[in-house]
Amino acid sequence: MKRKRFIQLSSFATAGGLVLPWSCNPRKQNPQQIRSVQKNWAGNYTYTAPHFHEPSSLEEVQELVRNLDEQKALGSAHCFNDIADSPSNQISTRRLNRLVEVDKENKTVTVEAGTRYGDFAEALHEQGYALKNLASLPHISVAGACATATHGSGVRNGGLATQVVAVELVKPDGSLVTIDRSHPDFPAVVVGLGAFGIITKVSLEIEETYDVLQHVFLDLPFDVAVTQFDEIMSSGYSVSYFTNWMDNKVSEVWVKRRADDAGTELGGDFYGAKAATHNVHPVIEQSAESCSEQMGVPGPWYDRLPHFKMGFTPSTGAELQAEYFVPRENAADALMAFEKMKEEIFPHMFISEIRTVAADNFWMSPCYKKECVALHTTWKPKPKEVYALLPKIEAELAPYGVKPHWGKLFTLDAKVLQGRYEKHPEFLALAKAYDPDGKFKNGYLTRNIY
Ligand SMILES: Cc1cc2nc3c(=O)[nH]c(=O)nc-3n(C[C@H](O)[C@H](O)[C@H](O)COP(=O)(O)OP(=O)(O)OC[C@H]3O[C@@H](n4cnc5c(N)ncnc54)[C@H](O)[C@@H]3O)c2cc1C
Repeated sequence: MKRKRFIQLSSFATAGGLVLPWSCNPRKQNPQQIRSVQKNWAGNYTYTAPHFHEPSSLEEVQELVRNLDEQKALGSAHCFNDIADSPSNQISTRRLNRLVEVDKENKTVTVEAGTRYGDFAEALHEQGYALKNLASLPHISVAGACATATHGSGVRNGGLATQVVAVELVKPDGSLVTIDRSHPDFPAVVVGLGAFGIITKVSLEIEETYDVLQHVFLDLPFDVAVTQFDEIMSSGYSVSYFTNWMDNKVSEVWVKRRADDAGTELGGDFYGAKAATHNVHPVIEQSAESCSEQMGVPGPWYDRLPHFKMGFTPSTGAELQAEYFVPRENAADALMAFEKMKEEIFPHMFISEIRTVAADNFWMSPCYKKECVALHTTWKPKPKEVYALLPKIEAELAPYGVKPHWGKLFTLDAKVLQGRYEKHPEFLALAKAYDPDGKFKNGYLTRNIY
């Protein structure tokens, strides 16, 4: 008999909004369905699916999936494009938000798919456990984050999907399957872009809890940031550059180190950058109130690995994001290619963040079998200007086989994009085998994958 500790928490805090009792029954759809989620988080995309469902149990999900034709899962709506939209039905996982089980023997935590990382991280820590890494914010759903290969930083840290040990999936006919690491479809389904069905539970690898210390350094000379990229990125457990590309500098370097592996003091001079004297926001002019604690003050992993605290909205949401991955061996060239465009991009951006992601085995991960550098930009909410710039950036980075983040904005031609994923043919064949009637197809998948 395994020694397991079950925690059944009836409800975690979720974003406000209407919960409609009829919304989970496809046969009782209210003709004037009011949606609790109308737009994505940034507000730049309005979902077009006429029907919206918020099931709160596995059985309700199965019934919906079985009875509905076109449909798509919606997690925490943090993507910047139409990846989570559907021509007919959106199935929100917002009410599938329970921590199901901490399995101390097998070192796993199982959560319902719509649970946000910040919803269960503290409870996990209180039991003595931690996840290996987190993204920049804890407000994203576990299944939705993994579906798009969401990542944090760290030369030895793969994307969040690399923590997944198993998913429970409702297939298009409503049947249930558990796909774990030994299953041949695992590398396709976890970073699955929502193409295989609705994931209802996710089990993640855990380890003993640990503290993290976060230091920020200001004004790293750009040439040093480029020439000593590997060394600087390896100087902590998770390292990020923040830059607006101007003035020949990286404005901030965030270095997150594990207390159990902190090594020597980083000091006040870090490769020519100066230690910050107080907490800062990635956009230096903005208040650091929403940011996780810095200044080397140790704190639990879940309160330091994300840049933003769970209790705060990281920014107004009035922004756009795009992110591009290139193999890490091309980091210096990619940084210089971006910097070359600074006069053109600076007026339209808030900040860029540069991170590293270790290689993984997920077929549609940009880091499939290749460690990568990820060049992210938070843009001002000016879609016309941003959409005019993206093809130029994609062209500049083309020599390095650039791949965009699935959940952010991009304009790359679908055939070119598909050609950069050696496993695309296998992924497409498997998606069609799981979903022969195209229940989970939407405009995004039709455009980019099918
Ligand atoms: C402020 C902000 C900060 C961000 N920071 C980072 C970062 O640090 N690193 C990074 O890589 N990305 C980052 N992102 C992007 C974000 O992590 C991704 O867009 C992620 O996919 C969001 O998860 P979600 O649950 O909101 O997904 P949604 O937009 O709700 O859905 C995304 C996809 O997942 C599918 N999906 C969702 N739930 C399920 C399910 N249960 N079963 C099957 N398919 C499902 C949907 O159908 C859709 O295809 C950030 C986004 C924002 C807005």
